[in-house]
Amino acid sequence: MRSHYCGDLNLSHNGETVTLCGWVHRRRDHGGVIFLDLRDREGIAQVVIDPDTEEAFALADKARSEFVLKVTGLVRLRPQGGINPNMRTGDIEVLGKSVEILNSAQTPPFQLDGFVDVGEEVRLRYRYMDLRRPEMQEKLIMRSKATRLVRNYLEEHGFLDIETPMLTRATPEGARDYLVPSRVHPGSFYALPQSPQLFKQLLMVSGFDRYYQIVRCFRDEDLRAERQPEFTQIDIETSFMNEEKIMGMTQDMVTKMFSELLNVDLGKFPHLTFADAMRLYGSDKPDLRIPLQLIDIDDLVAGVEFKVFNGPANDPKGRVAALKVPGGGERMTRKQIDDYGKFVSLYGAKGLAWVKVNALENGVEGLQSPILKFLDEDVIMAIMARLDVANGDIIFFGSDSVKVVSDALGALRCKLGADLNLYTCAWAPLWVVDFPMFEENSQGGLTALHHPFTAPTCTPEELEANPATALSRAYDMVINGYEVGGGSIRIHDQAMQQSVFRVLDIQEEQQREKFGFLLDALKYGAPPHGGLAFGLDRLVMLLCGTDSIREVIAFPKTQSASCVMTQAPSPVDTQQLHELNIRIRRDAASATSH
Ligand code: ASP
Repeated sequence: MRSHYCGDLNLSHNGETVTLCGWVHRRRDHGGVIFLDLRDREGIAQVVIDPDTEEAFALADKARSEFVLKVTGLVRLRPQGGINPNMRTGDIEVLGKSVEILNSAQTPPFQLDGFVDVGEEVRLRYRYMDLRRPEMQEKLIMRSKATRLVRNYLEEHGFLDIETPMLTRATPEGARDYLVPSRVHPGSFYALPQSPQLFKQLLMVSGFDRYYQIVRCFRDEDLRAERQPEFTQIDIETSFMNEEKIMGMTQDMVTKMFSELLNVDLGKFPHLTFADAMRLYGSDKPDLRIPLQLIDIDDLVAGVEFKVFNGPANDPKGRVAALKVPGGGERMTRKQIDDYGKFVSLYGAKGLAWVKVNALENGVEGLQSPILKFLDEDVIMAIMARLDVANGDIIFFGSDSVKVVSDALGALRCKLGADLNLYTCAWAPLWVVDFPMFEENSQGGLTALHHPFTAPTCTPEELEANPATALSRAYDMVINGYEVGGGSIRIHDQAMQQSVFRVLDIQEEQQREKFGFLLDALKYGAPPHGGLAFGLDRLVMLLCGTDSIREVIAFPKTQSASCVMTQAPSPVDTQQLHELNIRIRRDAASATSH
């Protein structure tokens, strides 16, 4: 039907007759002439219709916002004064000769021209309209460009695109499974993959050597911002490559992505150990654009009377740390400080002690703080010396368990970075390495920090003797405080795999039942292998400069894992349940019916 996209027209088409198909973005009548802004996925072109083309004029006159039109006309230069430098097609316009209304449209649920935010709920309910907005079209086009680039890069480097099952067994990645009931095996369920982890490892056992897949993963997680129940990974696995090589190659891929799509040079990716990341930034995905660092002061306050400090300072699982904001004291009101106190309470902190440095030359007299009265002068001045403070600074303190202090001050650091615009650069990529193999769970047992197939840096004997201190051969790529990818060298030896299972308290019988196929495969010549997976949604989110992954997913779910457009999830009829041998508990049904 069309000869050109609206958005592609430019000076080079001057004098050509073109046919455009698109939506009426805006219609204006100007002294008997009708101006139509016609929009398609590539952009907007201005169409002018004179009354002397009577039929076209009459149809254009009927057209309203979001009508679908086919327009044939002559491309011409805009008159002096009509040129719009803000528009890609702003040098030209199309003198419409014939107009066909391909479809009419009701008044849209929200205006697309001059969009005002109507709230996410409405946007998601009418997502097909929301996606018409040029801004949204650009994001999905960017997403497509990103996946094309990834495919090209990986294919050029010898990777094979291989699909893995969606109806499968559980793959532990730390979330709950989405289950699919089997009709033909009453009472049995498939799990949707939390990731293709085990299948990609088995593909290495099969000798495919370099695998990738741009693949949907499913995780039923508690409601947390920025999580989608289904999301997309760029999943990669290789044999015979060590972590240096894997990190190097995938870093190169991401670097190319940013340079080709954004013209941004990501530069070097520093390597930071997990321990340093937690110590300096209170996070295993630090935003290195922000220059603030946490500084431990446990040793300085271990002997003070002040319980708030001396308790955690003397507890091996406690931490007392400070966060200095240079010049922050001058910029912060008491109300703002109180708000930061409320903010850290979201991370479990019971309070937020602070000191403002007004006139350091006057010693303690020159400081302002509600906690000074609890501390000796020499302790206070030793803290000031360690923090190397200057007049105008403010210092925040965290004193609690290691976890609470790291979480609270780590989050406060990011909040201060954003609120005070402390960023020193636009992009800060890095690798976090040397993760612990395990972390303690709430029941006092150990859980794999990544997943149980990650190789440790030690022998099976050492691992079982000292699991809590064992490190893994895992690596995460972090950009601007977002974990964009992560992976590891895997265990390719059955004995080691069983050691890890034992540490995780998965006993022999359960090992066989859940992972028998993996343990068997490891016996038949499994090569050394490793890989990683990138979160495509997050990467595209960064590429698009937005801060919500929902903005870069065509049809995302809300934070309560539902789709307001299709109303999924929804009850199903009794017949279907009957076939699946499922009966819904009455209390559950009433709990979910709204
Ligand atoms: N399967 C892991 C994940 O989904 C990534 C990997 O280790 O390759 O996080």
